Amino acid sequence: MNEVGWGRHYYYPRALIHVDGDSFFAACEVARNPSLRGKPVVTGAERGIVSAATYEAKALGINRGIRLADVKKICPEAIIVASDYELYTLYSLRMYEIMRRYTPAVEEYGIDECFGDLTGLRRTFHMSYEDIARKIKADLYRELDITFSVGLSCTKVLAKVGSKYQKPDGFTAIPLIGKDTFLANTEIGKIWGIGPNTTAFLQNHGIRTALDFTNKNEDWVKKYLNKPIEEIWRELNGESVMDLVTEAKHTYYSIQKTRTFSPPSKEAGFLYSQLSKNVEGACAKARTHGLTATGFSFFLKSQEFRYRGADVKLSGPSNAPHEILHAMEPHFLKVFRAGTFYRASGVTLTGLHEAKEVQLDLFTDPEKTAGIARVFERVDVLTERFGRHAIYLASSMKAIGAGRVAASGRGIGSVSRTRAGALFKGRERQKIFPLPFLGEVG
Ligand SMILES: [Mg+2]
Repeated sequence: MNEVGWGRHYYYPRALIHVDGDSFFAACEVARNPSLRGKPVVTGAERGIVSAATYEAKALGINRGIRLADVKKICPEAIIVASDYELYTLYSLRMYEIMRRYTPAVEEYGIDECFGDLTGLRRTFHMSYEDIARKIKADLYRELDITFSVGLSCTKVLAKVGSKYQKPDGFTAIPLIGKDTFLANTEIGKIWGIGPNTTAFLQNHGIRTALDFTNKNEDWVKKYLNKPIEEIWRELNGESVMDLVTEAKHTYYSIQKTRTFSPPSKEAGFLYSQLSKNVEGACAKARTHGLTATGFSFFLKSQEFRYRGADVKLSGPSNAPHEILHAMEPHFLKVFRAGTFYRASGVTLTGLHEAKEVQLDLFTDPEKTAGIARVFERVDVLTERFGRHAIYLASSMKAIGAGRVAASGRGIGSVSRTRAGALFKGRERQKIFPLPFLGEVG
């Protein structure tokens, strides 16, 4: 694209790039384990539904949200793996880091996508905006071994149109002067920020594509639509009104804690205490980062490497282990199968938000919530002073005992004998303050 002379303002008055990882979770799994390349791979084993699928799996009709039982029917040789959010977070951080080599103005929009502002950087890099964007895309692929779809344009909404335009591994530059061709080929419902209700309304007014929408005049838009949709209309028209949110966000989109134990166990109490330990660990990490979760998933992995688990929504945001355990209990009873030996457990906190953003709803007693928060602040302080496991929920006791034994290499023999010995040993070595009072606070 020619960008010289007076004409450049007709191309990129601002230059914003949006990069979006293709089938990101599944792609991270393949990048870590190249023997999976070219195969139908899905993640989400621990949830019982597909979280992400490689393009080989998508080609067979396996998409997000499909039940794993159906995946096996569609494609018996599909490879189903458990989500590893720590891995995905690492790749995510590397993606942001690569983008920041080119510009300090980066918006960490999601675990697999970000915006960057390249405005004014052509001289710095002696390159056109399109060449800078192509170079970022090439760096991402070379260093992460994951393909990204990239959009470049003069507004955030148009850059998003670009990154969606060709997938996977797409590169779409939408200069201001040429945007109408792209908008004519984009259905209005596919535009970032336009939900099903707005789509239905716009369609009822004869608007089928994004171009139809941009052809509506400002008065009409102001009369019938709210401010956020009006901003989208402006951005589609090439007027940049949305700024990048460039403060580094919390880097955790989910927090996961898993444990493998030896020997495998079929004892419900023991398994529950393992999950309790996972919950405590995940909540401690969430509190360290000032985050609360709106949901969580958990799993038990059998001796035969089969996962059983559940996705749970919380009634309100929380990072307090006893609240999460309370919500887990009924699901645990469904997931646990008597007679099955299990070898690992795991918990993932999802829907993380900064704790200060949390709104108390009408059904939450603010004093009680504050009280719980104070208790856990105290727990975190004591943990720092006396070490991990100095304080723990009574329900985690069995797991902590077993963990100690495994670590000291004495984990052979019956589960209950092992646990009793270890717990006693632990008490000798460490100041332990079990927290039975948590039951009263909750
Ligand atoms: Mg993506």
